[in-house]
Amino acid sequence: AKQLGGNQYQSYTPTLQSEFLDDLTLETSLRYAVERQELELYYQPIVGLENGKIVGAEALVRWHHPQQGMIPPVKFIPLAEQTGLIAPIGEWVLQTACNQTKSWQAEGLPPVRVAVNLSFRQFNQVDLSERLVRILDESGLDPSYLELELTESILVQNVEVTIAKLNELKSMGVQISLDDFGTGYSSLSYLQQFPFDLLKIDRCFVQDINTNATNAALTNAIIQMAHSLNLKVIAEGVETREELAVLYENKCDNIQGYLFSRPVKAEEFKRMLQEGKRL
Ligand code: C2E
Ligand code: CA
Ligand code: CA
Ligand code: CA
Repeated sequence: AKQLGGNQYQSYTPTLQSEFLDDLTLETSLRYAVERQELELYYQPIVGLENGKIVGAEALVRWHHPQQGMIPPVKFIPLAEQTGLIAPIGEWVLQTACNQTKSWQAEGLPPVRVAVNLSFRQFNQVDLSERLVRILDESGLDPSYLELELTESILVQNVEVTIAKLNELKSMGVQISLDDFGTGYSSLSYLQQFPFDLLKIDRCFVQDINTNATNAALTNAIIQMAHSLNLKVIAEGVETREELAVLYENKCDNIQGYLFSRPVKAEEFKRMLQEGKRL
């Protein structure tokens, strides 16, 4: 039996039917994607603005579908969440990111952190901590090099439970960042209660900050308030030198975006580390 969301059955109309069938076909192939080794992790560098050097990378999953070619994560992560397939996929992503990062360090490359996206459903797995402890242990990666990216969706749940979970993860030594900040509904004062280490400002605020006064004002306010809450700030989706200049002036800590690099294969990210690529 397929565990698609109940509302998909309710809104059963001819147009939705084909979408539904597409999802079923996709689900069937996604079910085997991990074991058939069709998933690959790409790495997008994260750069420190104090010296322009790479400080880490965000691991971003790619699916090489045997017939349909590359399927972007926005097309299969939501499906994976709906069907529960996010569990094995998320496990594979964590393992691969930790093993890869540890092996770069073992090869003597400058140590950098790796950021892994954790979906809402993964965050709510009862055995998440046990899984993480095991993955970190097996990889040998120092937990301080692992950063977990969570979105504001986790904040709508019971506040005490969420804080307790975050503290449990933090007690293992990993870092926690709040991803896509600004796209949800949480104010910065609300955030104060949660033990985040970093805040990632969503690309929609960073876009055109050199010409868009509203975006500039919002981004700058977010950076200042985040700093007053002792959070480091990463600006996402930085595409131009002009945007970078504004972020630099406003003391943003880290940037990520096409300006420095698109997400790249592990081999290419390793080369950037080796060559000491800088902004
Ligand atoms: P995200 O976590 O916000 O990841 C950043 C997305 O922005 C990536 O898209 C990245 O390629 C894109 N991006 C980075 N810099 C720029 C830029 O300068 N300009 C523009 N236009 N885009 C930029 P991607 O790789 O397609 O991933 C999309 C989303 O899929 C991610 O958004 C994340 O929510 C999800 N995702 C990706 N990998 C995983 C994963 O392993 N697990 C989970 N749960 N979700 C994942
Ligand atoms: Ca992310
Ligand atoms: Ca993001
Ligand atoms: Ca996003």
